[in-house]
Amino acid sequence: MSNINKEDSDDIYIRTVQKEYTKIDGKWLQLHYKTAVVLVIVAFLVEVSMGIFLINSDMLRTTVHRFFLKYLIFPSGINFIFIALNMFIIKSKIFSQTFKIYAISIIFVCINFVLFAVHNAFIAIYYIAAIAIMLTIIYANYYVTGMTALTSIVSMVISELFIQWDGDKISIFQSTLRFSEFLISLISLITFSIACMIIIRFERKKNSASIQKEIERQQLQQILHMDEMTGIYNRKALHNELKHVEDTPSDTQHILAIVDIDRFKSINDTWGHHIGDRCLIEFAKILKEYHTNITPFRYGGDEFCLLFRGIRMADAEIICREIQDKVNNLAFKDYPKLELTVSFGLAAISDQIDTVRLFINADHALYEAKKVRNSICVFK
Ligand code: GH3
Ligand code: MG
Repeated sequence: MSNINKEDSDDIYIRTVQKEYTKIDGKWLQLHYKTAVVLVIVAFLVEVSMGIFLINSDMLRTTVHRFFLKYLIFPSGINFIFIALNMFIIKSKIFSQTFKIYAISIIFVCINFVLFAVHNAFIAIYYIAAIAIMLTIIYANYYVTGMTALTSIVSMVISELFIQWDGDKISIFQSTLRFSEFLISLISLITFSIACMIIIRFERKKNSASIQKEIERQQLQQILHMDEMTGIYNRKALHNELKHVEDTPSDTQHILAIVDIDRFKSINDTWGHHIGDRCLIEFAKILKEYHTNITPFRYGGDEFCLLFRGIRMADAEIICREIQDKVNNLAFKDYPKLELTVSFGLAAISDQIDTVRLFINADHALYEAKKVRNSICVFK
């Protein structure tokens, strides 16, 4: 806990959420890459089985050597090169995650292109392109999905119009049925891409709505735990913090200091309540300067609590003395005679005592300090 303003805490929250999204994207990227590997392996195995089946069925219209070269070694060879490139990019530390997302998405399209170009006798392969587009939805990035959709569609069209690798392929210009299938597949792919973009739009809306709600929840939480006048944490925050200390066993030494302004009632009576308020604000300002060592809380009225973490009692005493000096030297413009002093009661938490006992002990030390005032007492 420390004193941070609203904009900073919103920024921190948004950055935390973005980090979380990047982590999820990273996990998906791995899956995306593995899907490409599986696709290439499956295509290779299907090709081998088809080859064996065709050879044994006498349906092979070319030589065994040519068949394996044309449909197995050439496409799978290129696709395994793509997989190697994929692996290099994904494992490399020099590329950013965004670059990897673009690269893996485009390599997936290239693998599809090879498969379709070699097998464009089978129109159903169009739907592997849909998988390439679908796999990018998780990134919720219009550019990635848009680029994947566009390159998929263009590569399918190029393959359909200009590549005649498969001898069995019927050109769309020779068959009305093939032309209709080409058009239907193309329209389906475009519609699918638009649907993916719409899904991304709603997904992004959903994400930003939940981020907004979470920010509001955090702001409310912040208000609930803040003392309005001094801008430091309040009694509720202290109780939560002490509970947290109690519930989380650690080797860190915790010290609680209860600080009370001396003769504050008479300051109010002599100078007025608004000056009393100014004293509280100025005192809190001094406490805030020590936020790296302590978390300050306004317990109520003129009573404050300081929680020290991972610090020895002797060092906590030094910090209290510094605070005390600063308070003593506070100068109030227009009120030169106004002098402020504070008393400290300190206690350390140990294995034997719980936070309730810690509070009682610190209060006991404060009681001792109040006997002289402007002093620091440690519970023994
Ligand atoms: P002691 O040295 O024993 O602490 O004497 P004290 O006069 O400070 O006694 P105590 O701590 O009991 O007095 C607290 C006073 O603080 C009582 C109350 O009028 C005043 N007070 C509580 N809250 C506020 C506040 O928000 N603003 C102002 N100006 N005064 C407050
Ligand atoms: Mg007091």
